[in-house]
Amino acid sequence: MEIRKIVLIQPGREGRIFGKAPAASYTLMRLASLVPDDIDVEIWHNDWEPVEKKLRSLGKHDLVGITAKTLEVEQAEHFAQIAREAGVETIVVGGNHATLMPEDVKRWADVVVTGEAYRTWPKIIADFQNDTLQPHYDDTEWADLKGVAPLTDRVINQVDERRRFWTPMMEITRGCPRNCSFCTAIRVSGQKMRFRPVEEIVEEIERRKLDRFFLTDDNFGLSFIIDPEYTERLFLALEKLPLRGWTTQAEMAVSNHPDLLKLAKRAHLDKFFIGFESVNPDNWRELGGKSKGLIKQYQASIKGIQEHGIGVVGLFVFGFDNDTPKVMWDTWEFGKNSGLDSMSTTVLTPYPGTPFRNQLLQEDRLIPDKTWRYYDTAHVVYYPKQMTVPEFEQEYDKVCRAIYSPYRIAQRGLRALARHPIRRMPAKAFGSFSTDYGYRRTFAWRHAFSS
Ligand code: SF4
Repeated sequence: MEIRKIVLIQPGREGRIFGKAPAASYTLMRLASLVPDDIDVEIWHNDWEPVEKKLRSLGKHDLVGITAKTLEVEQAEHFAQIAREAGVETIVVGGNHATLMPEDVKRWADVVVTGEAYRTWPKIIADFQNDTLQPHYDDTEWADLKGVAPLTDRVINQVDERRRFWTPMMEITRGCPRNCSFCTAIRVSGQKMRFRPVEEIVEEIERRKLDRFFLTDDNFGLSFIIDPEYTERLFLALEKLPLRGWTTQAEMAVSNHPDLLKLAKRAHLDKFFIGFESVNPDNWRELGGKSKGLIKQYQASIKGIQEHGIGVVGLFVFGFDNDTPKVMWDTWEFGKNSGLDSMSTTVLTPYPGTPFRNQLLQEDRLIPDKTWRYYDTAHVVYYPKQMTVPEFEQEYDKVCRAIYSPYRIAQRGLRALARHPIRRMPAKAFGSFSTDYGYRRTFAWRHAFSS
C-alpha cells in the first residue's frame, strides 16, 4: 500500500510543566530516523501537544506506530481506537509493555513489535508498502549497538528539543546483567550490557548541540566494573565537549572506583541516580546483588561519590515482602542524615514479566481492579505481605509528605547547590531542585485518580 505519512506516537500524562514537556521520546527519534527520506514522518508527543484531535486527521494511507510503557498502555489503546475510527488500517505497537506482554497488546494492535525495533522497523515499513505485513515482529537478539539508528538531522530539527522539552535523552549503554526481582530491564534491554562506540556518542552530542542530557541507560554505573577501559575512554572524550552537565542511573559500586569518579567529574557528570532500593537488609535477595540494605555501606558510598563533586540521588522502593510500615520511616531517617541531594521513594510495582509479578500471580496477590494506569509506582496494586493495603497507603502518604515537603526539598536542593563553585551556581540552581520537584509530582499522581 502506498504510504502518505508515518506517525509515531508517544503517550504521556504529564503535559507541559512551566511551558515545556518533560522529555522527548529518544526511541521514537531513532525509529523516525530509520524512515526513508522520501516518506514523511512525524513524532507526536502527547505531553507536548494532546494528540487526540490530530489523530482524527489521519486515514487509510497513514502508518501509525505507538510506543507505550505499561502505565501508558490504556492511553495507547484509546489513541489506537480513535485512529481506527478516522480510517487508519494499520496500527503498530511496540515498547516496554508490548515486549513484556505481547498477548495483551495483540487484542487491539494490528502489528505487535517485541524487543528492540531498530532492526524490524525498516522491514515493517517495507512490508506495509508491499502488503505483506505480519502480525508480530520480534527483535530480542540484543545485537551490537554499533551504528544502530543514528539520529538524522531531519528528526533532530523536527523534534526541536531545546524549545519543547526540558531534558534531552541520550544512550551510552544498554542492558543490565543484574536481575532484581522487580525490574524489567533484562527483558526489555537484555541481560548483556552493550556499549555504543565512543566516537558515535561524541558525534551525536555535537550534532544535536547538546550541552546537557540524561542517559536512558538501565545501569550506566555497571560500566565501571564491566569495562573500565571503555568508561575511561568515554570520560576522556566527554571532557573535551562544552557540556554543562549530565546525569545517569547507576549502582552504588561506582564509589569503589575513585579514579573513574575523578574522570567522571572532569567529563561533566553532575549526578548519579543510585538505586539503593531498600534500607531493610532482609530484602537483599530481591536486589540482584547490587545493594544489600546496609545503611553503613550506603553512607560510605554516598560520601565517596560526593567527595568527587558528584551529586547522589537515592532511589528507594517500599513494599517488599519483608517490609512493614517501619521501613518507610527508617528510609526517612536515612534520607535526613545521609546528605543525599534528592530522593525518590516509590511503591514496588509488579510489572509484567518480572519474577516479582510471577510470584504474586502464583500467590493470587494482585488486586483485580488495578488496571495498567495504576502501575505508576505511586499506587499499591497488590496485597503486601506484612501490611494491609490501607496501612501501606496511609503510611506511604505520610512519609512522602514529609520527604517532599517544600522545606525538605529546599534543604536538599541548597545542599546540592552548595557543592558547586559560586560562579556555577546560577547554572546549577534549576537542576538542584527540579529532581525532587519531579518526584513530588510522581507522588501526587497517587491522589490524581481514585485508589
Ligand atoms: S540493577 Fe537496576 S537496571 Fe539492573 S536489574 Fe537491578 S534495578 Fe534493574
